[in-house]
Amino acid sequence: MQYVYGPIPSRRLGRSLGVDPIPLKTCNWNCIYCQLGRSTPLTNERREYIPREAILAEIQETLAHHSSEIDYISFVGSGEPTLHSGLGWLIRAVKAITTIPVAVITNGVLLHRADVRQELLAADVVMPTVSAGTAELYRRIHRPHPDAGFEQLIDGLCAFRAEYTGQLWVEVMLIRNVNDSEIALRDLERVLRRIQPDQVHIVLPDRPPAEPWVQPADSEGLLRAEALLGPVAHIVHPFSNGVHASDYASPDEAIVSIVTRHPMSLAQLITTLNAWTDDEVSDALARLEQAGAIRPVERLGVRFWAAATSVFPT
Ligand code: SF4
Repeated sequence: MQYVYGPIPSRRLGRSLGVDPIPLKTCNWNCIYCQLGRSTPLTNERREYIPREAILAEIQETLAHHSSEIDYISFVGSGEPTLHSGLGWLIRAVKAITTIPVAVITNGVLLHRADVRQELLAADVVMPTVSAGTAELYRRIHRPHPDAGFEQLIDGLCAFRAEYTGQLWVEVMLIRNVNDSEIALRDLERVLRRIQPDQVHIVLPDRPPAEPWVQPADSEGLLRAEALLGPVAHIVHPFSNGVHASDYASPDEAIVSIVTRHPMSLAQLITTLNAWTDDEVSDALARLEQAGAIRPVERLGVRFWAAATSVFPT
């Protein structure tokens, strides 16, 4: 499997089958907290990066064996999924073959485009990111492509909300001394009131951030955010459950597939890959590191494992 991974435990989607329609780290943002490292390339070009039929074939094959183990089929992964020009086709094709709900995890940048909004209408849940309430803070956190402005993002999200009858869950990534002050949170609350999401999920960068100085907000910041961001806002804590990563022939294969999209520590991998013993997972990590198939990243006082080609400055 090249484009489908998991199911893996998701903080918000239970057992999530990830569908990755974009090559590693192709995005129109370059977030300071991105768990995939720096964006290479930073692009706003929408096109068919991977043949849509190849992606659908992997989804069909996985569903044939594991549909009972999946709570959501999630378009997410190594970059911004709405940059794939076949995303709407893929969502509709998935909806035609299964009743499992479809989620799209997106930065929301392209929702100012009517065609992208139309494509996402078929999804059951759309999960955009809004972590800043001003253009200045937006640029600082997301370091966007020059064509991805703040007002355009918010206008696009408001337009989508007006058209979309599914669940709109906004993610707020809370970063210490960046967007966790009272002023920043009040600005953000004003923007969220315009967008009117069904839920606001306050999350922390608990995987290796692209920039080494990024730190998760502390408990005071979290509680401040929950208090100020309105009644639909709540804190989403990191997952603690594991799932059987049954679609992989070996721990080596599973580790490469998973950490390419979700860098993890040894402890997280052992919890997730409960089809293998702790020693088997540790041995596989050592083999993969020696072969140059994955790379370690030190962040937040923890050693994580990420894609060999990911870019994390020291
Ligand atoms: S966190 Fe998401 S939106 Fe931000 S740079 Fe990474 S892939 Fe792109």
